[in-house]
Amino acid sequence: MGQLFAVEIIYRGVFQKTLAKNITRGIVLAAHNEGKLGISFGRYGDAPERNGIPAKSFAIIANDEQTLEAGMAQYEPKHVDLTVVLDDTLCKGAESWAWYGLQPVHHALKSGHTLIVVSLQDAPTLLKTIHRREEPYKLGILKGVTSFSGMWVYKDDHTDVRVLGAIAKALPELVSLKSVEKFITEKLKNSLKVTSTQTAYQRFTAVDVKPGKGNPEELFNFELLPWENMRNGVSIPGQPQGGPYADPVTKQTGGFRPARNELFKKYSTRTQRPVVNFSTCTKCTLCWLDCPDASFDVTPDGTYDANLEACCGCGICEAVCPVKDCVTMVNESLFHDNDSQWVRYKKDPHTYLKWLEKTIEMAEPDEKRSHGFRYRGQYQEQLPEALEVARKG
Ligand code: SF4
Ligand code: SF4
Repeated sequence: MGQLFAVEIIYRGVFQKTLAKNITRGIVLAAHNEGKLGISFGRYGDAPERNGIPAKSFAIIANDEQTLEAGMAQYEPKHVDLTVVLDDTLCKGAESWAWYGLQPVHHALKSGHTLIVVSLQDAPTLLKTIHRREEPYKLGILKGVTSFSGMWVYKDDHTDVRVLGAIAKALPELVSLKSVEKFITEKLKNSLKVTSTQTAYQRFTAVDVKPGKGNPEELFNFELLPWENMRNGVSIPGQPQGGPYADPVTKQTGGFRPARNELFKKYSTRTQRPVVNFSTCTKCTLCWLDCPDASFDVTPDGTYDANLEACCGCGICEAVCPVKDCVTMVNESLFHDNDSQWVRYKKDPHTYLKWLEKTIEMAEPDEKRSHGFRYRGQYQEQLPEALEVARKG
């Protein structure tokens, strides 16, 4: 049996699909330059992805056919030699295919191996989000804005080749920088991209993360019923409707909270979240009506609270709210829980509104996120900023 390598790329479904595919394809073609064999594939052969949902692409590399076949005998690798996370908000956990609940991003990473995250944040900040584990690993940050393109366009901001440069540095046994350069020169025919990959290679460093270091949060998880405990026959339980709930201060019940799927937490799709100013909300209902995921709870006050276990972060509520700054989308990296904003507001309106002001202020100079192209020319506007960050490293 020869040597086998597995690399997984964790990306945002639809928004980063082409980027992830280009990276895994690049690994395989660069490895060919060393006489290795490989295959790249997405978890979703038939692409049932929804916008933003955590998804994975893989590259499996071996130095002989038999080893490659053995490596491909499993649907997805249980252990990987390298994990790359293309959007740092995914560090909160990924809901893997055929898996209910969230898994830490280093779930499959072998002990001592490297987790690469594309991010503007530093390692200590990212470790507030990345979950603890018992085995040591290395955390490497490829400095860069998160590359989103949307479904039909590919934002060629060199993230693909920069990641390949970082991979060559983190795992030279898989593929050397020389082989990556050869792949870019011969297949992509772009000398500027060769420079980008070389720069990323030179600047890439990783820090050691000791066992037990990181976010102590227990990820949402549950046991699936063993088959012998399942009900006989086929029956589909009716969907409960939901109902009123209690004000945390007055204890009076009112409003309406719809019943939601307990087994699928949509928040892992989110890169931004809405923050709501309950003191200026006019109760116009537009956010509630237009939210595609029915994420708003109608509070006993008659205001609207974005339920953060259900919100997928699409930003529609911010767009439709007619009151200035009443709903603001803020980068998800700034938050570490999904607690109700309305409950916090009710318990202490003054402190909540101060927090709200500060949070929006903090978010302002932060990376502006956009999942796609909402207007003609947005691509051209975003590209120079992304290239500048890549240049400075
Ligand atoms: S961002 Fe707003 S509209 Fe979109 S899912 Fe969340 S609450 Fe609903
Ligand atoms: S759209 Fe804005 S003003 Fe209208 S109910 Fe929602 S948060 Fe309140």
